[in-house]
Amino acid sequence: MLSRRTLLKAGGGAAVATAVGVPALAGSASAGGGWDYLRTRLTGDLVLPADTGYELAKQNQFGEFDAITPRGLVYAETTADVSLAVRFARDHGLPLRTRSGGHNYRGWSTGEGLVIDLSRIHHTTVTGETVHLGPGAQSIDALYALGPLGKQVIAGTCPTVCPGGFLSGGGIGYQTKKFGVGCDHIVSAQIVLADGSVRRVSAGSSPDLFWALRGGGGGNFGIVTDFEVTPIDAPRMVAFTAVFTWDRAAEILAAWQQWHLGTPDELGSALVFMLDDAAPGNMPTPLITGGYHGSEADLRVALAQLTTLVGAAPVNLDVRDLAYHEGMALSYGCGELTQDECHRVGTNPAAQLHRTALLREGYRFLDRALTTTEIGNLLAAWDGQRVAGQRRFLHGMTLGGANTRTGRQANAFVHRDAQFILGFDAQLDSPTPDLVAASEAFVDRGTAVLDQVARGAYVNFPGYKLPDWAGRYYAENYPRLLAAKRRYDPDNVFRHPRSIGSPSA
Ligand SMILES: Cc1cc2nc3c(=O)[nH]c(=O)nc-3n(C[C@H](O)[C@H](O)[C@H](O)COP(=O)(O)OP(=O)(O)OC[C@H]3O[C@@H](n4cnc5c(N)ncnc54)[C@H](O)[C@@H]3O)c2cc1C
Repeated sequence: MLSRRTLLKAGGGAAVATAVGVPALAGSASAGGGWDYLRTRLTGDLVLPADTGYELAKQNQFGEFDAITPRGLVYAETTADVSLAVRFARDHGLPLRTRSGGHNYRGWSTGEGLVIDLSRIHHTTVTGETVHLGPGAQSIDALYALGPLGKQVIAGTCPTVCPGGFLSGGGIGYQTKKFGVGCDHIVSAQIVLADGSVRRVSAGSSPDLFWALRGGGGGNFGIVTDFEVTPIDAPRMVAFTAVFTWDRAAEILAAWQQWHLGTPDELGSALVFMLDDAAPGNMPTPLITGGYHGSEADLRVALAQLTTLVGAAPVNLDVRDLAYHEGMALSYGCGELTQDECHRVGTNPAAQLHRTALLREGYRFLDRALTTTEIGNLLAAWDGQRVAGQRRFLHGMTLGGANTRTGRQANAFVHRDAQFILGFDAQLDSPTPDLVAASEAFVDRGTAVLDQVARGAYVNFPGYKLPDWAGRYYAENYPRLLAAKRRYDPDNVFRHPRSIGSPSA
């Protein structure tokens, strides 16, 4: 999902719980007692509805979920904090949700019970040949930390997305064609299980859980407090953006697909058609952007091929050979911002990135290029039924390459035949019931076309609605995920509307 830009310590107020159905949550500090018991034992902080900072603490990336009012939020600072909070929630019958970056489109990282927030477990450290990432290490911060150390990791197109969700669900970036998805690089993970116990899983230790954690999706098996990953060899990145004109939309979409299929693994890219306000008459902007892991001269040759395929030169072309973290920052739309500014407003005093009020989305993995007829149908769906006040994106990313050279059952990320992921995305700044309905209809029109050629869907782009989500996210890997779920979380402590084992219509 793209933002427009791409192109507390909490006060110690009264700690009294009032909701029905949760016993023993008054301010008792006795063992096994209430909120004070938890607060006084945490290294981090507990934020309750009466505390200063609660409104900010419950915010995720999408304003829509501000309506959800957690009974409490724990800002965990250590694995022991996480373990304590899990045990506390279980002892008090509080539903649990896990949050790292808070970017889940469907609000799965918040809920009405206890939210365990990992944003303060955000280490990025190099240990020998591997990199350790805290689940709350925002992409921009991890990349800036690693740059001077000569290490790089796979990252997506949003600077504030965190490994907690990104790596758990897969992790697609401009680097995927050359290096695979992010979860392919996990060599071990430390996880807090439903009984509060802590274990490090790897190929040699709890291999069934290790397999499931790589692509099975966050919020299913436990709370990861450390990912150990192998770095990628990408010291530099040639970042590029080619802006075209709308009159060649069909040719651009066809060209982007053909270009991807004919260029080397070093070239990862995204297709973006965007319409800032879908009022009738407004002109969308089509662009192709990405990162090349090779020389600028070679990329310019490839871009000339793209021009030939489109049949027109870009009206604007930006190509910059940069250190990897700088190239990624540019691709985030943060090229002119400091690292601190490249964060969500409210999370630090300098932060400038805004939240999205409401999003509706539907994406599918494609194993092949769309035909001319399919492209025509898709564009008709995307550009039809214009409505003022709605921002529209057609957004695609390339996979292929290394992703296709990994087996479908190597880990839980099954989408190994995918060359592209493509979808419709509608965003609203001022949601009204009519605009929400129009946005859902817009996404439905898009997915109806995509469903004729593609089935698989990405748990990290979950889809505002998705019949048979288990089959679409996981295909033949689902039974193995169910087995891991039954073994490691038999009481279904970690659950959300589409967690492993939930009903899948
Ligand atoms: C603007 C934007 C751009 C994006 N671009 C890309 C992209 O280019 N490529 C891509 O692959 N994805 C992309 N995504 C999707 C992104 O990968 C997912 O939203 C991801 O799940 C976010 O992780 P998070 O930790 O930030 O979010 P959260 O909402 O905190 O977590 C997401 C899910 O993981 C669970 N979870 C969080 N932390 C943990 C943990 N420590 N242990 C276990 N479970 C946990 C949560 O409970 C929730 O179910 C984008 C999202 C946005 C909003």
